[in-house]
Amino acid sequence: MSFSDLGLLPELLRAVQEKGYSAPTPIQAGTIPAILAGRDVLAGAQTGTGKTAAFVLPILQRLTQDAAHGTHPAPRALVLTPTRELAAQIADNATGYGHYLKVRSAVVFGGVGINPQIDQLRRGCDLLIATPGRLLDLSEQGALNLSRISCFVLDEADRMLDMGFIPAIRRVLKLLPAQRQNLMFSATYSEDIRSLAQRFLHNPVNVEVTSRNSTAERVTQSLYRVPKESKRHLLAHLINEGNWQQVLVFTRTKHGANRLAKQLESAGINSAAIHGNKSQAARVRALADFKGLRVTALVATEVAARGLDIKELPHVVNYELPNVPEDYVHRIGRTARAGASGAAVSLVSPDEEPLLRDIERLLKSPIQATALPQFPILNMPAEPDRGPPREMHRDRAAGNGGNGNRGGRSGPRRPQQGQRPQQGQGRAPSGAVRTGAAQDGQRHSAHRHGESQGSRPAGAPRGDGGRGFGGERRGPRTQGAGGGRADSGWRRA
Ligand code: AMP
Repeated sequence: MSFSDLGLLPELLRAVQEKGYSAPTPIQAGTIPAILAGRDVLAGAQTGTGKTAAFVLPILQRLTQDAAHGTHPAPRALVLTPTRELAAQIADNATGYGHYLKVRSAVVFGGVGINPQIDQLRRGCDLLIATPGRLLDLSEQGALNLSRISCFVLDEADRMLDMGFIPAIRRVLKLLPAQRQNLMFSATYSEDIRSLAQRFLHNPVNVEVTSRNSTAERVTQSLYRVPKESKRHLLAHLINEGNWQQVLVFTRTKHGANRLAKQLESAGINSAAIHGNKSQAARVRALADFKGLRVTALVATEVAARGLDIKELPHVVNYELPNVPEDYVHRIGRTARAGASGAAVSLVSPDEEPLLRDIERLLKSPIQATALPQFPILNMPAEPDRGPPREMHRDRAAGNGGNGNRGGRSGPRRPQQGQRPQQGQGRAPSGAVRTGAAQDGQRHSAHRHGESQGSRPAGAPRGDGGRGFGGERRGPRTQGAGGGRADSGWRRA
């Protein structure tokens, strides 16, 4: 099938051709004719399937062909989407696909000033893309007239539900004319999604491009069972050893995202955090740096990661498993987008086994467990942005000279971090991380003593639940690598 078989206008065919799309994706082939025919649609499609074009292209066409619109400023199509990033991205796509048409589109979302949005709405738009909160604000302020909406899209409906947007959606629906076309897209179908669909879709065409709740087929999934305290070291190792240039890392909390980004930075890996507490400008900058390969690891919370469209994102890491199993599907959907292949790795600590079981139950298959490799313990503070934790004391006292976190590399990709020689301490022999000064109490002293004797690979099971990895002797593959570049790390943390 080609795009021209779908009944799209020549202007749209030209735009998709210029985007480099050779053929419609299955979701596009399924939904575009139905939307052009004016039908309601319920589409089950994961992110990365081309679902944005699946609704934007036919909407642009219908808006163009609707002769009655004149130059009225009120929008005629509304796309409601859960996150700012997704809203901005859909708007970008609409601008691109609509390049040869005269449809005016606008985007409104929170976290940025409302006045420019009010001005833009006053100037008029045909297609409005919005997040629910800001849309309602604008409506309450009298800046938005939704009475002319003839097509309403609820994008990522499952995410909307998870984010507690149902009351807001109900309020939005009340503002829309009763006669309209409705489209609903969702990656997963729960009972709640079905009842939401029943509430506002009329005799919808059902389009489902992947089997229900299945994960993106091209994603290679694997997991490591690893103590919580070792996760950051394993992650740094995977990034360094695999020479990963671009990895999206999921944490459960905003604080956790900040912390991990700093820890990775201190290990020499360019990182940024992206989450709801960040300003819109900071989010945009982090995403641009990530897309431009200036940031290797983008550490994100679930919500912030929605709507990130990074072409051919090769690696996704679940640093912590999500509480909701469906979120696992969303997360790994960030890789293997639009025909590319990708890998999703989960780092699973013992306390997360129940979450893993839930995910595997949803997937209806186990995730392949990979044996833990030996990995170096880098100078990554346990809590760089809170208080003075023990590991940090220990690492600082120890000096960690000759850290060399680029084991096996001919040279570093970036300035080496996480290496800080201390006066009078110098490098530990053979590039091993030496732990030192007994500043932090009995338990750690005993632990260090044990470590100094053996050569247990990092991350291997240990009697004390894996505490105190900050001062561990490193495995043989790290020896000597990067030694002598120990000069800049800690000052940045
Ligand atoms: P989406 O699922 O809408 O987030 O789209 C994922 C990615 O697929 C985006 O980067 C789109 O530009 C791209 N895309 C959409 N449709 C096609 C197509 N027919 N062929 C190739 N890439 C596409």
